[in-house]
Amino acid sequence: MSRFLNSRLNRLAPYVPGEQPRNTTRLIKLNTNENPYPPGNKVKEALANAACDQLRLYPDPDTTALIAAAAQVYGVKRSQILLGNGSDELLAFCFQAFGEDGVAFPDISYGFYQVWAGLYGDIYTQIPLRSNLQIAVEDYEGQKGTVIIANPNAPTGLALPLSDIRFLLEQDKDRLVIVDEAYVDFNEENALPLLAEYDNLLIIRTLSKGYSLAGARIGLAIGSEAIIDDLRRIKFSFNPYNINRLSLLAGEAGLLDQEYFSQCRERVIASRQRLQAALCEMGFTIPDSRANFLFVGEHPQITAAEYYQALREAGILVRYFSTPRIDNFVRISIGTEEDTEELINVTHTILKGVQ
Ligand code: PMP
Repeated sequence: MSRFLNSRLNRLAPYVPGEQPRNTTRLIKLNTNENPYPPGNKVKEALANAACDQLRLYPDPDTTALIAAAAQVYGVKRSQILLGNGSDELLAFCFQAFGEDGVAFPDISYGFYQVWAGLYGDIYTQIPLRSNLQIAVEDYEGQKGTVIIANPNAPTGLALPLSDIRFLLEQDKDRLVIVDEAYVDFNEENALPLLAEYDNLLIIRTLSKGYSLAGARIGLAIGSEAIIDDLRRIKFSFNPYNINRLSLLAGEAGLLDQEYFSQCRERVIASRQRLQAALCEMGFTIPDSRANFLFVGEHPQITAAEYYQALREAGILVRYFSTPRIDNFVRISIGTEEDTEELINVTHTILKGVQ
């Protein structure tokens, strides 16, 4: 730390992203919830046809074409959408824009929330998950300011039903509820239908997971025109060109190719079910995931830390959090069908070794 850093940032504990190994050729990488399938041919064509000469020009600051595609796919008005450099950027804008009266979120959720709260000096409250790792919406009664819920939650994978999101919105119509739907593409329901009824709802989406575009960095904020306008003020006070030209093209092609999206989604969900059943049979406890990962742990013969290490030695990278309450689980992103079979076989071998 230099002596020039603003003192209020002295104690900031930055977010630690999952490992991104340089050489993945001999690794099965199941640690950062990426889609195991590459972007589809429509995205590849859009990028192949991209005119390199155009990179000399700044991208469209209004991201018009990608917003039009998103409005069509999500069934909302264009004025209800703002794009961010990944949903991380939009979530950061939210903590900056809406954190003044306090922010509440579950104690076990996306680890970045508390980092942004720290960065922007928001007072935050972490509401404990119940012992079954579920969010209990009654526990948010009386919380002022802003509530943020990842639904499905990470790293548990558990989802709240829409009726619970409605309950949160009804608790206080003057409180903003942000629903981070990063993983919603792997769930059966989502909060978009509630937008017409509630102007205290803001939905954050990403193309990183369901649309295989984590490397393009595209997030979407979807809400009332007034809320989107607030966030737009921040974007245009920070970085008007926050989405680069290539990402705009990739995002538009990816979103409009709903057929490919659905194929990948179905394959991921099928592998999730296969893996969940196989690992449960081997004695692991796994909450009912609605995301593209499983939270796997509490095995009678092996700790999560040991399982993580043994998988790593076998060339399979998963995520382990040494955080209290969840330090006996690993989070495993859903891979391809082949990755899934390999993981099951390797786990069998590991467990045989500890019997
Ligand atoms: N929300 C949650 C719950 C996440 O797990 C992630 C990804 N790590 C994000 C948001 C951010 O995703 P991105 O910036 O790639 O859109």
